[in-house]
Amino acid sequence: MIKVKNRKILLLPGDGIGPEVVSEVKKIINWFNSKRSLDFETDEDLVGGAAYDEHGTPITDEVFYKALESEAVILGAVGGPKWDNLDFSKKPERALLKLRKELKLFANLRPAICFKQLVDASSLKPEIVSGLDIMIVRELTGGIYFGEPRGIKPIDNGERKGVNTHTYTSSEIARVARVAFDLAKKRNNKVTSCEKSNVMEAGQLWREEVEEIHKNEFKEVKLEHMLADNCAMQLLRNPKQFDVIVTDNLFGDILSDEAAMLTGSLGLLPSASLGAKDKNGKMRSMYEPVHGSAPDIAGKGLANPIATILSFSMALRYSLDLVKEADELDKAVQNVLDMGLRTKDIFSKGNKEVSTNTMGDAIIAQLQN
Ligand code: NAD
Repeated sequence: MIKVKNRKILLLPGDGIGPEVVSEVKKIINWFNSKRSLDFETDEDLVGGAAYDEHGTPITDEVFYKALESEAVILGAVGGPKWDNLDFSKKPERALLKLRKELKLFANLRPAICFKQLVDASSLKPEIVSGLDIMIVRELTGGIYFGEPRGIKPIDNGERKGVNTHTYTSSEIARVARVAFDLAKKRNNKVTSCEKSNVMEAGQLWREEVEEIHKNEFKEVKLEHMLADNCAMQLLRNPKQFDVIVTDNLFGDILSDEAAMLTGSLGLLPSASLGAKDKNGKMRSMYEPVHGSAPDIAGKGLANPIATILSFSMALRYSLDLVKEADELDKAVQNVLDMGLRTKDIFSKGNKEVSTNTMGDAIIAQLQN
C-alpha cells in the first residue's frame, strides 16, 4: 500500500473520562492507518491534573512544543475535584488557556447539530430543532477576558471596584470574520454577526469591520447583523434561521453554550479552535469535546465518545485536508445512532445501551462497511 504522507497528531487525553474517549479516537486513527493509504503519526502526552501529578505543572514546555509542531492536537478533558484547591496557576484548566493563547487559536468553532435520532433529548419542540445545523464562530483570544486594565481594587468609602476591559482591534475582528465567511461558503452561505453596537463602541467597531470584510472579500455570502441579546432569543424561537454565527469572546461563550443545549446532549458536541493560516495554508489547531472530565462517571465505561470522535472528524476536515474521510466518519456515527446504539447519557427506551468501548467499535465497524 502506498502511504501518502505523514500527518502529526498530538493526543492529550487529560483527566477523568478524557483518556477513555481519546482511546476510541486512537482506535479510529489506527483503523485509518491500517485500512487506508494514510499515515497518521501520533504522539501522546500528559496534560491537566495528570501532568500536575507527574511534573508539578498542568503542561510542561516539552508538551507545549510538541503541540506547536503538530498539525492537530486532540484533547480529551482536564480537571476534577482532586485538583480543585490548587493555586490558580497550577490548575488543570491553565493548560487549556496556555495552549489556546500561545498557539494563537483565535477562532473557536462549535457546531450545534440536532441529530434526528435524538430530537427528543432537546428541551425544545421537535419541529423547532429537528435538522438543526448551525456553526458558532467565537473569537477566542481577545475581548473582555483578556483586555487591560483588569482587576479588583479598593476605592473610597471602604468599597472595592472590579474592572474588566472589552477591547478589539480591526485586525482581530477581520481575521475571525474571514473564518466565518469562509465556513459559510462551504455551508449555506449566510453569516449572522452578533454584537451590541447599540450600546458599546467596541460593538460598533465590530459591526463596521465585519461589514468592510464582507464588502471587499465575501460579497457573495449573505451577511446579517443581529444584536447579541436578540440572537439569544432567536436561538430559542427559530434556531434554523441561522447558518454561521460570528461573535466576540464573551457573547460567543454564552451563545455557543445556549446553542449547544438546543441539541440535548453534551456527549455529542465537538469543537475546534483554529489559528491563522501560514503561507502554505497550514494552521495551528486544537480539537476537543465541549464536555469536561465528568469525574462522576470516569473509569466506568459510561462516557459517550461521540463528541471526541466528531472532534477528530473536524480535525480531518479543517486541518488534515481529508474531507472525504471526515464525511465517512460523520456518516458512521449517524449509522450507529440509526441502529439504536446509545451510551447511557443518551439512552432512551427501545434502544440498546452500550459502553464507551462498544460505541467506538461499532463506529469502526460502520467505517468498514
Ligand atoms: P462535565 O462536562 O464534565 O459533566 C457534566 C455532566 O455531563 C456530568 O453529569 C457528566 O457525567 C456528563 N457528561 C459529560 N460528558 C459526558 C460524556 N462524554 N458522556 C456521558 N456523560 C457526560 O462538567 P462538570 O461536571 O461541570 O465539570 C467536571 C470537571 O471538568 C471540572 O473539573 C471542570 O473544571 C472540568 N471541565 C473541563 C473542560 C475541558 O477540559 N475543556 C470543560 C468543562 C469542564
